[in-house]
Amino acid sequence: MGDKKILCIGLVCLDIINVVDKYPEEDTDSSFITADFVRRGVDISGVAWQKEGETPCACCVVCPISGTRTVVLFDTNLPDVSAEDFSRVDLSQYKWIHWEGRNAEEQVKMIQRVEHYNSTLPEDKRITISVEIEKTREPLYQLFPYGDVVFVSKDVAKHFGFQTAADALRGLYGRVKKGAVLMCAWAEKGADAMGPDGAVVHSDAFPPEALVDTLGAGDTFNASVIFALSRGKSLQEALSFGCQVAGRKCGVHGYDDIVPQKQ
Ligand code: ADP
Repeated sequence: MGDKKILCIGLVCLDIINVVDKYPEEDTDSSFITADFVRRGVDISGVAWQKEGETPCACCVVCPISGTRTVVLFDTNLPDVSAEDFSRVDLSQYKWIHWEGRNAEEQVKMIQRVEHYNSTLPEDKRITISVEIEKTREPLYQLFPYGDVVFVSKDVAKHFGFQTAADALRGLYGRVKKGAVLMCAWAEKGADAMGPDGAVVHSDAFPPEALVDTLGAGDTFNASVIFALSRGKSLQEALSFGCQVAGRKCGVHGYDDIVPQKQ
């Protein structure tokens, strides 16, 4: 169990931030992304390489005063990962699989494959399934009952008429499966979570001294929470760790300095 990995299914996008001093060279986008993954020790052996389509790319304008960002996405024709791609994944290598909600119908098929695999194993050997419902798109809402851990965004919560993370959890918990954890991050208000006992767990945000760049704070939060829970931390510990790392990320450009560099 100790050596098993965490698999993430979603889409990576090259964000060109206007405050960097150098733009990537023309047509180097996919090699830039893979080199970046390799440099950070992310195993890319499971990537489903597409024959058609362009590398997703976005131009981001970060306001240095507030740290807010405006993203101009060059929306592309890159196919999403399919259930057929996923059928080639050797599930025995993984202890946790995370889906960023995108092509929900195909993703349901992928998750059902994992559920079937899990049903053949004792509880402690099963793969934990997490899903993120970030965009306000009706088809994504079918993913609610499929995660052991479900991340729902502030945008989706507001779309359902909720004004706080705690209200969103109380209102949306009925959509998740029995025993699941529902999480909702709310920018500078921190994040809340609800498990099967129905209690709302909260962590305040950990604002950096100066807000520099909030782009990717949500993904940083998700990754940190998954990391902590996968190491057996409690919901409260994981939530607080997620907010600490995401808060730190808001105080630096990109991701390199999330971990303070040794001099
Ligand atoms: P995003 O908009 O990038 O998806 P979220 O609103 O989901 O980000 O925030 C994720 C987490 O990032 C929050 O729970 C919080 O811990 C941290 N965070 C985001 N914005 C701020 C901020 N302005 N100040 C402090 N922490 C923040």
